[in-house]
Amino acid sequence: MSESNTELKQTDPEIFERLQAEDRRQGRTIRLIASENYASAAVRQATASRLTNKYSEGYPGRRYYQGQEHTDAVENLARDRACKLFGAAHANVQPYSGSPANLAVYYALAELGDPILGMGLPFGGHLTHGWKVSFSGRFYDAHHYEVDPDTECIDFAAVREVAREVQPKMIICGASAYPRTIDFAAFAEIADEVGAYLLADIAHIAGLVAGGAHPSPVGAADVITSTTHKTLRGPRGGLIMCDDKLAKDIDRAVFPALQGGPHMNAVAAAAVAFNEAMSEDFEDYAHQIVKNAQALADGLAGYGLRLVAGGTDNHLLLVDLTPRELGGRDAAVALEKAGIVVNSNSIPFDTRGPFDPSGIRIGTAAVTTRGMDTDDMAQIADFIGRVLDDLDDDDALSRIGSEVEEFCADFPLP
Ligand SMILES: *Cc1c(COP(=O)(O)O)cnc(C)c1O
Repeated sequence: MSESNTELKQTDPEIFERLQAEDRRQGRTIRLIASENYASAAVRQATASRLTNKYSEGYPGRRYYQGQEHTDAVENLARDRACKLFGAAHANVQPYSGSPANLAVYYALAELGDPILGMGLPFGGHLTHGWKVSFSGRFYDAHHYEVDPDTECIDFAAVREVAREVQPKMIICGASAYPRTIDFAAFAEIADEVGAYLLADIAHIAGLVAGGAHPSPVGAADVITSTTHKTLRGPRGGLIMCDDKLAKDIDRAVFPALQGGPHMNAVAAAAVAFNEAMSEDFEDYAHQIVKNAQALADGLAGYGLRLVAGGTDNHLLLVDLTPRELGGRDAAVALEKAGIVVNSNSIPFDTRGPFDPSGIRIGTAAVTTRGMDTDDMAQIADFIGRVLDDLDDDDALSRIGSEVEEFCADFPLP
C-alpha cells in the first residue's frame, strides 16, 4: 500500500486494515498465480494519482469535455510508448481490461452470429475466445481448436482443417494456460488461407514479447490485444494494437461503442509500465522468468509430477497431478495453507470437472519480480513437493508455511 495512507486510516479503518493485511499476505506468500505480478511503486503511484478524477471521453485532440491538456499528453505518451515497445503502428490504451479489449475487437471486426475460431477453454484458451458462458460464445458462432492429444501442443494441421470447414471471420490465438511458444506465423498462414482476421491475444505473454523472450505477433496478426497487468507488470488495464488500416474501426469500437470515459489514472500507469518495459533490466527480467519456469519444471518433475506438454517455453507450467492421484482443488487449497498461492486448472482432455480439475497452473512472473532465481525455484519445488506429500497433515503444512514465510522475507515486495 502507498506510503502515506493517514487519511484512509482515519476515514475508513476497515478498508485500511484489509489493505494492510493484503500487503502482508502478498509479502509472506509465494505468488505463483500465472496471471499475477507485482507492479512497481512508480506504477502504483500513477494509479493512485488525481487523474482518477478526470473525464476524458474521446481521444487526444478530440475530447468531449474541456480541461484535457495533461490527459492528452499522458494518453499520447502511453500510445507512443506502446507502439515503440511492440513495434506496432497503432495502439489503443483505453480498454478497461483484457476482456473488454477483446470485446472491442469482436465489435470492430465481426457481425453478430459470424463464425469465429478460438482455442478451447479446456486446452488453455480464454473465456473470451468463444467459450459458451462468455459474450463471445453467445453472440458469435464459436468453434474451437484443441491441442494434439500426444504432444499437448497446438496441432496446426487440425487448426487448418477446422478453419477450412468453419470459414471463420476471425481466428483467435493466444492463451491463458498454454506452456509452449505460440507460432503466430503458422496461425497467420491459416487465417490468410481462409480469409479470416487473425487476433493474437497476448494477455499472458506480453511482457515476454516486450522483453524478447517470446516471438512477437506484430506483422503476423491483424490485431493484437493484451492486458497490461500480467507479465507486462503494469496497472490493471487493456491494450489493442493494429495497423493503420484498422485503427479507426478499433478506436470507434472502444469509444463510443463500448466504453465511456477512459480510466486516465490507469492509462498514465500503463505509460509508466511501457517505459519500464523498454529497459535492459526488463529484457533480463523477461528471460529470467522463462529460466525460472524451466528450473521450477525440472524441480517438480523430480517429485513425480507430470508436466503438460513436457515442460515450458514461457512463464507458466501446467502440472498434471494424476500420477499422484491428487485433484487440483485439494492441492491448491493445501498449498495455500503453506503460503504457496496457485490456481487449480484443467489439463488437456481432463477427465475431472472444471471446478476440481486434474492440474494446477504455476507461473513465475511474480516471483521473478521479487528477485528469485533458479536456485530459489529449486527451493520452491521442494516446498511444493513436500506439501503434496503431506496434503492432509495441517501441522506439516503449517510448518512448511513458516519456512515459506522465512524464505519470502529475503525478497521484499516492490
Ligand atoms: C487474462 C486474459 C484475458 C482477460 O483479461 P482480464 O483483464 O482479466 O479481463 C484475456 N485473454 C487472455 C488470453 C487472458 O489470459
